[in-house]
Amino acid sequence: MKKTHFLLSLGILAGAHTASGQAFYGDPPDETHPWAIHDHNRPQPPVVTPGKNGAPPSDAVVLFDGKNLSGWTNDKGEPTKWVVKDNAMECVPKSGYIRSKQEFGDCQLHVEWAAPAEVKGSGQGRGNSGVFLMGMAEVQVLDNYQNPTYPDGFAASVYGINPPLANALNPPGQFNSYDIIFRRPIFKDGKQVDPGYLTVFCNGVLVQDHTPLEGPGGHKRRSKPRAFPEKGPLKLQDHGNPVRFRNIWYRPLPPRAIEGGTDGQLTPETTMAKRQQIAAEIREDAAKITDPRKKMLRLMESMIYGGGARIQAEAGKLANAYARSVSALDGQALEQKKGEIMEVKRAFDYLAKHKIMPSDLGPKKSIEQTIEKAGWNKKK
Ligand code: MG
Repeated sequence: MKKTHFLLSLGILAGAHTASGQAFYGDPPDETHPWAIHDHNRPQPPVVTPGKNGAPPSDAVVLFDGKNLSGWTNDKGEPTKWVVKDNAMECVPKSGYIRSKQEFGDCQLHVEWAAPAEVKGSGQGRGNSGVFLMGMAEVQVLDNYQNPTYPDGFAASVYGINPPLANALNPPGQFNSYDIIFRRPIFKDGKQVDPGYLTVFCNGVLVQDHTPLEGPGGHKRRSKPRAFPEKGPLKLQDHGNPVRFRNIWYRPLPPRAIEGGTDGQLTPETTMAKRQQIAAEIREDAAKITDPRKKMLRLMESMIYGGGARIQAEAGKLANAYARSVSALDGQALEQKKGEIMEVKRAFDYLAKHKIMPSDLGPKKSIEQTIEKAGWNKKK
């Protein structure tokens, strides 16, 4: 940790300066990060209530809850011949793929599947099905319990692309869970800007670790990178085995930085646009504040994201007025304002340190003189 970060740990709630007496937060936004470190202006993460005893979380979109196949069709959009038995859907061989009516892209997907309890066949012929994200990239479903096959076609492989990191399967007849994090490939102007990724847990064991997609995958052919649409259905494969599925749900994922998301490292253009937006929102908030000192601090805070001569002038005017009011105080009256004044000093220091305001600004100097006169800067 660098010693110079003397204000690093002084994060505060935006607009609530007085309570803590501290100014702003850690390192300010930069060319590729619209938020400061420990930025309290940043939105709180959305609340999701976890599911209890295997139930989906509160924001999940349930695709199959064990009751019926009303959300599913065959590959031509017609009613499927797959059947529901004991709260699971079962593949009827030769009936073709089953497809969700819902279409979606990047997601967290939960699927449970079981190979037939009665073991028939070997290799790829035993309990074969597949989870096809957007109908394109297959996470293999296969009964590999004591049943070897080519590793890039194993259960939980990204089929034809990458073997699983482990074989964590339950015996045939028992359900296995896949928890899949899917990011689709993104192309811009015909150029791949993100290959897309699959992360998979099988029965809680990591089996795909952010595996790049290298295209949709396929049988015997090396995949080539290729653009995916924005959305597609979930497809489950009919590979001639009565594999069962249950408890299927997904949660859509927020956009990556590369497609307009505002977390992570952004392009300079996106960063600047977001910073201007944050600055404007803080100024909107400042406009509602009646206390001139708090209004001044909030306006100064907006300058951390983006400013302009008009804002500088408005904040400067408030700062001049505040510095004048403070310099007129002494004795008990001044002592009573110590916390507030020190907070303003720290705000000035922060802005000067990060070159958002000049360090020799009039009101800053004036406040410093007041502090020196009162002896508050002396170490005890
Ligand atoms: Mg398959």
